[in-house]
Amino acid sequence: MKSLIGGDLTRHSILHIAYIITIFTVCTTARGDVFPSCADLPQGKCSKEDSIAGQEIRCGIQNGIFLHGSRRGNQIALTFDLCPTNLLPAFAPEIVDYLERERVPTTFFVSGQWAESNSAEFRRIKQVPFFEIALHGHRHPRLVNTSAETIRAEIEDGKAALLGIGVTPTPLFRPPYWDQPPALSVTARQCGVLPVVGDVGLGDPDPHRTSDIMERDAIRWVQAGSVIVLHANGRGYATAETVRNLVPLFRQRGYIFARVSDLVAECRVPTMETQDIDMNPHMLYQ
Ligand SMILES: [Zn+2]
Repeated sequence: MKSLIGGDLTRHSILHIAYIITIFTVCTTARGDVFPSCADLPQGKCSKEDSIAGQEIRCGIQNGIFLHGSRRGNQIALTFDLCPTNLLPAFAPEIVDYLERERVPTTFFVSGQWAESNSAEFRRIKQVPFFEIALHGHRHPRLVNTSAETIRAEIEDGKAALLGIGVTPTPLFRPPYWDQPPALSVTARQCGVLPVVGDVGLGDPDPHRTSDIMERDAIRWVQAGSVIVLHANGRGYATAETVRNLVPLFRQRGYIFARVSDLVAECRVPTMETQDIDMNPHMLYQ
């Protein structure tokens, strides 16, 4: 297994630039709508005409990939990736202890290999009822230009590993390195999961990213619906201090911490489309 920190570091170091220049696809749905699964709709009928009514919710979906929740509410999501690593320690218990003590609903994207190598730590996370465990692949390879079979194997093998330890993951999948190959969205939905990246990457695997820098950027970038990406596999250098400072700050500003599945639910994004997979998911919420 190759060391992953280099890739994560490079990836995250450009995230803030990427988000400045990226024009998100903003979708509009209706608060209070019971949004039907597209499996229930005729082919190609999931258009904005089906979804606009009443109060608008602005959610970020790009090419069928979930970026952020509603910009009209006050929920934000803290997320932590648990990528496999050969380095030790491979876990940051002080982060988890703090989040549990402060009762912060949190989503952990867990790779299968990390869970298998750190089963005691994995069980430590899963015992907290307001923590959510989602998928982060299994072997954690780069997925750029890869085949649908490789994507499917990452999802299914990762899921099997977590099930083998007694955890049924929430059907959300964060691709390793945030790679978004063309086949990602449709393949993920074939597997019954929703691909999720985020809109605020604080770059915590970079040792030059101090807590002061990350807090400054978080204050600049976080807004309602934001999905904040950090690491809890020991590869985040100033992550714990940053979290301890940001949680009370954002609560003071009126934000409520929620799990990613809560943000997804507010956007009425169906996650279990296993039937109507020929339809372009990008069309769902434009
Ligand atoms: Zn990762």
